[in-house]
Amino acid sequence: MANKNTIVDLRSDTLTKPTPAMLEAMMAADVGDDVFGEDSTVNSLESKVATMFGKEAAMFCPSGTMSNQIAIRVLTQPQDEVICDRSSHIYLYEGGGMAYNSMVSVALIDGERGRLQAHQVEASVRPYDVLFPQSKVVVLENTSNKGGGSYYELDQIAAIHRVCQRYGLSMHLDGARVFNALTETGHAPVDIGHFFDTISICLSKGLGAPVGSLLLGSEENIKKARRVRKVLGGGMRQSGYMAAAGLYALDHHIGRLKDDHDKARRIGQMLGACTMVERVEPVDTNIVIGTVRGDVQDFLGQLRSQGILALAFGGHSVRMVTHLGVSEEMMNMIEDGLRAVRA
Ligand SMILES: *Cc1c(COP(=O)(O)O)cnc(C)c1O
Repeated sequence: MANKNTIVDLRSDTLTKPTPAMLEAMMAADVGDDVFGEDSTVNSLESKVATMFGKEAAMFCPSGTMSNQIAIRVLTQPQDEVICDRSSHIYLYEGGGMAYNSMVSVALIDGERGRLQAHQVEASVRPYDVLFPQSKVVVLENTSNKGGGSYYELDQIAAIHRVCQRYGLSMHLDGARVFNALTETGHAPVDIGHFFDTISICLSKGLGAPVGSLLLGSEENIKKARRVRKVLGGGMRQSGYMAAAGLYALDHHIGRLKDDHDKARRIGQMLGACTMVERVEPVDTNIVIGTVRGDVQDFLGQLRSQGILALAFGGHSVRMVTHLGVSEEMMNMIEDGLRAVRA
């Protein structure tokens, strides 16, 4: 029940805490030393997720940043080039990691709400020349964070895949929120898995686990990836406690994502009715982005004083993300809170 002290935290879907049932599953985990390959819970998580997406192998990582960065390292050589959207997480929010870890350059595309189109990818491919970096990998982000939770239809991915086949490019999926995308398109993970050489998924976003991501790919690529994870300091020991949370999340929290999407759409409407809000981007999954008229900090401060936390998202934008910690009572608080905002 929401009360005076309730905080509605919409800054991110990473803010969830394990549910009592998830904690119980963690406590009951059988663990071992995963650097020796002896943590049975990590091993089951890795094989479960690999099978789900139709890939040969998977590797548990502490974060999505690490699994993305390892993918680029495995798929490229120094002087190669990665093709991605200008607003993509792998380029914008990973500390310049592709340059630092893999010594590659980037070809940036101005996608539509974070989504690339096949013709844009094709136009970015460089012909072979000693002068040029070598185009090597295309990264798709699905859903797109900066794009406000937009997702790809499978035929859009298939069209990009055909371009990549033609030019011998690998494909990496930043699938931090891929289950949100699949919830909307109605496809199974295997339907999307076969397009990509490597896939990164996050357990710590809408799925509600405290920690963890996985990198998926061929046996050969995941074997290479394990060496890179080690050198980055990401080889963990009894990480089965975390993997158990991930297994629990995959079994119990995928089906409820549509509830997050439904709440996000309703928040989008409430936001649109707020006097201080000029525009709301389409709400496709669990991310709501609005443009504020006037001072963003003033807007966020007025919400904060009513126990509602949202995130400044560059320029006049604010972001609100739904997740399993947002109850119906909180939805009422959000509605009242936005109604009380004064320009
Ligand atoms: C959150 C996120 C990641 C990974 O983030 P970590 O905080 O490092 O786990 C990667 N890509 C996208 C699109 C994300 O939203």
